[in-house]
Amino acid sequence: MATLLDGRRLAGEIEARLQAVIARHGTQLGRPPGLAVLRVGDDPASGVYVANKEKACTRVGITSLGAHLAAGTGADEVLAAVRRLNADPCCDGILLQLPLPAGLAEGPLLMAIDPAKDADGLHTLNLGHLLKGEPGPRSCTPAGVMALLARHGVELAGQRAVVVGRSILVGQPMALMLQAADATVTVAHSRTADLAALTRQADVLVVAAGRPRMIGAEHVKPGAVVVDVGIHRRPEGGLCGDVRFAEVEPLARAFTAPRAASAAMCALRRWSRSPVPSAPCPAALAR
Ligand code: NAP
Repeated sequence: MATLLDGRRLAGEIEARLQAVIARHGTQLGRPPGLAVLRVGDDPASGVYVANKEKACTRVGITSLGAHLAAGTGADEVLAAVRRLNADPCCDGILLQLPLPAGLAEGPLLMAIDPAKDADGLHTLNLGHLLKGEPGPRSCTPAGVMALLARHGVELAGQRAVVVGRSILVGQPMALMLQAADATVTVAHSRTADLAALTRQADVLVVAAGRPRMIGAEHVKPGAVVVDVGIHRRPEGGLCGDVRFAEVEPLARAFTAPRAASAAMCALRRWSRSPVPSAPCPAALAR
């Protein structure tokens, strides 16, 4: 029977450990650490993510300093908000919630975040640290996947991994992290020819395409480990991922259930970089 890679449980474990770490560092700092989630516009999925992040901050003892700017806010105003947070001594970490509304380029705004407060590890400097295997904040969602694989003892060295998706937010850092763990990694994208033939070679398949239920039995090698990063609201209600679980579950050795991975990722997202120097990051805590 396939093992469930239980992200929700991992998130709970990480939160429990973080509470103690944060309390200790809060005493040293003389204030609780502060995390700002900067949201622009009204993307409904982002609304859910941000609310969950803020609730979890409360649970672990982090002060939420976020701001919600209206959809029509111009780049200059968003930039000013980022700079205010950079200068705020009570703000230790900044997350710019993606996606931004059409017309707002994420690149310059991510670059404006103080690299030392870049909680999502998406500043070019921090992506460079990841590329070179140097310490630094890591992109939260792929860090969450790595923590989940580690938590369940999934061996990566020498394994063939395929990542579907090449975004800066998920696919690219995911591939780098798997490679750093000595997997042999191939990245697929929307122009990949014969995706199913490629993904069927994967011992570890990570899907982050943002296409509801696109991966089915024909894409999966029997005995593979399948991680679904995708999250979608179904028109009829409820959530689904990029993977058709009913088809994949009987084939897989281990798999994430919809939302199970995301719970861990949400927890890790907030703390991929600890806002307190020397506090361990959650990916490390999960190991
Ligand atoms: P994105 O920026 O839209 O990137 C999607 C990637 O998938 C692109 O590289 C795209 O290729 C590729 N792709 C699209 N259709 C494909 C196809 N038919 N075959 C192969 N590749 C295809 O999305 P993202 O930000 O990476 O997010 C991906 C998914 O993860 C979304 O569902 C998102 O909601 C979810 N997500 C979850 C979390 C979490 O914490 N659980 C966090 C972030 C994102 P091209 O580059 O060629 O366009």
